[in-house]
Amino acid sequence: MPHDTPLISTIVGGLVLAFIFGAIAHRLRMPPLVGYLIAGVLVGPHTPGYVADQSLAPELAEIGVILLMFGVGLHFSLKDLLSVRGIAVPGAIAQIAFATLLGWGLGAFMGWPTGGSLVFGLALSVASTVVLLKALQERRLVETERGRIAVGWLIVEDLAMVLALVLIPAAAGIGGGHGPAEPLSAGLNRLLGLDLGVGGMIAMTLVKVALFVALMLVFGRKLIPWTMHRIAHTGSRELFRLGVLAIALGVAFGAAKLFGVSLALGAFFAGMVLAESELSHRAAQESLPLRDAFAVLFFVSVGMLFDPNILIDKPLPILATIFIIVIGKSVAALLIVLAFKKPLGTALTISASLGQIGEFSFILAALGVELGLLPEEGRDLILAGAIISIVLNPLLFFLCDRVRPLLEGAKREEAAAEPAPAADAATAQEQLPAEDDDVHPTTLTGHAILIGYGRVGRIVGQNLKSSGTPFLVIEDSDKRIGELKAQGIEAFMGNAVARETLDLANLSTARSIAIAIPNAFEACRIAEQARSVNPSILIVARAHSDAEVDELKQYGADTVIMGEREIALGMVDRLAQVHHESVPYEDRHEPDTIIPTGTAPPEKE
Ligand code: AMP
Repeated sequence: MPHDTPLISTIVGGLVLAFIFGAIAHRLRMPPLVGYLIAGVLVGPHTPGYVADQSLAPELAEIGVILLMFGVGLHFSLKDLLSVRGIAVPGAIAQIAFATLLGWGLGAFMGWPTGGSLVFGLALSVASTVVLLKALQERRLVETERGRIAVGWLIVEDLAMVLALVLIPAAAGIGGGHGPAEPLSAGLNRLLGLDLGVGGMIAMTLVKVALFVALMLVFGRKLIPWTMHRIAHTGSRELFRLGVLAIALGVAFGAAKLFGVSLALGAFFAGMVLAESELSHRAAQESLPLRDAFAVLFFVSVGMLFDPNILIDKPLPILATIFIIVIGKSVAALLIVLAFKKPLGTALTISASLGQIGEFSFILAALGVELGLLPEEGRDLILAGAIISIVLNPLLFFLCDRVRPLLEGAKREEAAAEPAPAADAATAQEQLPAEDDDVHPTTLTGHAILIGYGRVGRIVGQNLKSSGTPFLVIEDSDKRIGELKAQGIEAFMGNAVARETLDLANLSTARSIAIAIPNAFEACRIAEQARSVNPSILIVARAHSDAEVDELKQYGADTVIMGEREIALGMVDRLAQVHHESVPYEDRHEPDTIIPTGTAPPEKE
């Protein structure tokens, strides 16, 4: 490996090893990110052999963070962001406070100074953007309600950390450290030559963040889509791609340098102002390959920091740290979300997605050590805690998928045991989401059961309704249930995976079940139960890949409709209408179909 090209060797070493170990992990039915982390450990300084550049790798990883957050912004409008603020703001703040308290407790127990313990706790409280977004994306949850809450929560955490990075150096003198070496909110302050107190610094940071957001919403919102439209009109794909990257990286970097906002937050806003433009999908597509490559480097760079010896040297403190990250934080998030009367599924997804730590924690740990607040031991625990919690994260999601039906079942039994909870005496009941209200099974027989009433289920439902087919719907979003009831359609709220919910639908006498939800894992569980209760029922399911089709069939689905394939066939059909010469154009058309722009109907013979 050439010594004078650290950038190339870091990118090549990182990507090649990540590819090899990612593929091995996949083969062993583990998430590929475990392979990426192992690749990182191998190119890290703590294992023999080639050592990648330790300052370049995290910097490259930041590009992954920027592109990921930009991509999320592209799917997020201001309205979406504001719609979750009611839960995301108090939720994130309460969770940060709780995790910091636990971390502080552990630090105090280890005999660290108060300042150091607080930094430690704070570092354990903030989830990694990359890990959270990857988890949501893999499960196609980013655009669901729970996905939006999780992203909103992440943004609040991000803002809190921006503040913390400013405050910690300022408070270091008080907390037992040797004072600020270099104030991190440097940009504007240094420019203005200001020497502010702690209160002034908070105010200054908030003003800068507000200024950045206002600039983006007022000018960015016009300028960025306008620029992208202009570039799109040049017809050059290359320029468009470049434009997307320039905007994502440029805005993020500018936000960080000029306004002291984190790179991730800057990128998120850059994406968000483009979200309402019709170009946002194309922009998302164009940034995908680079985003994935750099996100992989994020995991490699985390792996590089890991010193496996710590597992032998400090097993108990590590266990305690992991307990705080994976269990303490998750339980806190779960309770907070349930307290907001959200369904259990939402609460579980959000808490699983937040049960890990990553990049911000490293920055905080490094800062804490540099200021003499946090002992090196604390930083090592944070690093080990991060890598282990990232490895455990997919497992946490898996457990949540498994635990959810059980918990829902337990709660339903509890609800059944107390059939008439008095409004004033039902404290335990109040914790339950609204899904437990309706406990009377349907009286329908020979009916159709529709699971999910989103983009797909809605169309199926309207057709069943207009054809007079007796049917009912199972949905886990309370908003949709309200909508269904308003239309006079029989609907049950809850996760259809839970046997108790399915029982309400009278599966044993139903004629058919249409599983119109996007999550194939859940769909398989539903198909499996439907087949075992009613061997002759017709099961129609929805899938998004060939692997999902096979799996659903294996679990008893009779017909599986693969979304992407049907989209393609729809397109082929429409194209055939225009290009097929033997049939006169108007004979193949509904009168109101729109002719694609630029495509003239063929001449009549
Ligand atoms: P869409 O992807 O737009 O068709 O939306 C899917 C719909 O299915 C959403 O309204 C979800 O709330 C609902 N949904 C997803 N998973 C479940 C589940 N396990 N049980 C019941 N409803 C679900």
